[in-house]
Amino acid sequence: MAEESNPREQGSKITLRAKDYAQWYQDVVRCADLAEPAEVVRGCMVIKPHGYAIWEKIQAELDRRFKALGHQNAYFPLFIPESFIRKEAEHVEGFSPELAVVTIGGGKELAERLIVRPTSETIIGHFFSKWISSYRDLPLKINQWANVVRWEMRPRVFLRTTEFLWQEGHTAHASHEEAVEETLQMLNVYESFAREFMAMPVIAGRKTPSEKFAGALTSYTIEAMMQDGRALQAGTSHDLGQNFGKAFDVKYLSKEGKLEYVWQTSWGVSTRLIGGLVMCHSDDNGLVLPPKLAPIHVAVVPIYKSDGERTSVLEACNKLGGALRNRGLSVIVDDRDECKPGAKFFEWERKGVPARVEIGPKDLAKGHVAVKRRDGGDRFFVPRDGAPDRILSLMDEIQDSLRKRALEFRESHTRTCDSFAEFVEIMAGPEGFVRGGWCGDAACEAKVKETTKATIRCIPLNNPKESCPCMVCGKPAEERVIYAKAY
Ligand SMILES: [Zn+2]
Repeated sequence: MAEESNPREQGSKITLRAKDYAQWYQDVVRCADLAEPAEVVRGCMVIKPHGYAIWEKIQAELDRRFKALGHQNAYFPLFIPESFIRKEAEHVEGFSPELAVVTIGGGKELAERLIVRPTSETIIGHFFSKWISSYRDLPLKINQWANVVRWEMRPRVFLRTTEFLWQEGHTAHASHEEAVEETLQMLNVYESFAREFMAMPVIAGRKTPSEKFAGALTSYTIEAMMQDGRALQAGTSHDLGQNFGKAFDVKYLSKEGKLEYVWQTSWGVSTRLIGGLVMCHSDDNGLVLPPKLAPIHVAVVPIYKSDGERTSVLEACNKLGGALRNRGLSVIVDDRDECKPGAKFFEWERKGVPARVEIGPKDLAKGHVAVKRRDGGDRFFVPRDGAPDRILSLMDEIQDSLRKRALEFRESHTRTCDSFAEFVEIMAGPEGFVRGGWCGDAACEAKVKETTKATIRCIPLNNPKESCPCMVCGKPAEERVIYAKAY
């Protein structure tokens, strides 16, 4: 291979994580060509093809899981009458500061202002009241893939944008018990999806009352740790009780002939997951993707100097590409003549393609191909005959290795702490998760936030009961909660 000037110095640069984590994140998103801020519409983003392809993979797997559990997709209006938002007192209070409001339509001032949906409990509640009349109509299990708008003062691509894409599940049940079961089942779907597909371990738990969804009885969350030690709330599932049922008069006639309000749930994940994926696995050279969500699994790069070499090398590359595709992998044979191999390596590395294969005349003569894993390690050689199967199994190895690495990172950055002074010190440093006691008092929670900007991320499910002091006031607590700074 000919010596080339270092493409790193020519193209866009990625800031080192250790130097400026926030800038590193933006650089990775830009250099991997995932998305860019829509500078003409502040707070919004353009999701570019490589980023959207990841979203499509996320969608496909989640959609499959939702349907397997009996949910059906539907679509509700983007606009919500303002009066709807006002019907549930906590809901309007929680969402008011983030609402975008339409006052003019067709050149005329509207008789009733319309809210661009921040979430759809209200309008779906309205339609549920028309669709549900008897216990026979329950459970009703609907999911919507949509965009929502929440006005964002400090936008960050994927993590916080004024408009984002998500799914929102909305279900109605005949009993509270059944609604709670649904809420936890969907939290479990999110937890296993994050672990199995995103290779991102998460802590599933309950939100404290002050952190719950506006209008819910109880909110549940999955919390992931990013490489700067901060938490990312990656998905939520809410037990809405009868709050929206009462606000929208969603009643059903029970088996016993009594008119009752339904019990509802809602649950969602958004394009924020892509931000989580970037921050969980990527490195100073760019994006690192778990194979299960990578739009391209393998980049095959031919190495040649002469036309004669080109023909035989390309033939071998295409043959390998075909064999890999037959095994279900997405492959690009990068036969661009105008681009040197080094530039190609650089591009696929930045874009997070899990494996790169090189084939040159020497490799042909020796009957092997060179393989480089994106998640680290040296380049190695694989016999050409066995290459398709070896590369297929490599995908599982990379998937597994990323998950283990993320789990080890989280465990090594989680500390147990009983002293508030020590906690303040931890939060001033390289951060991480802190397992500390909480007495249940909102005042202690507020003190944590005021002093350190950290919050209680969740009270983990199946948390072992443990007598420990409240990390803030020292009073006896029954269990430890997860404290962290969050995105
Ligand atoms: Zn306390």
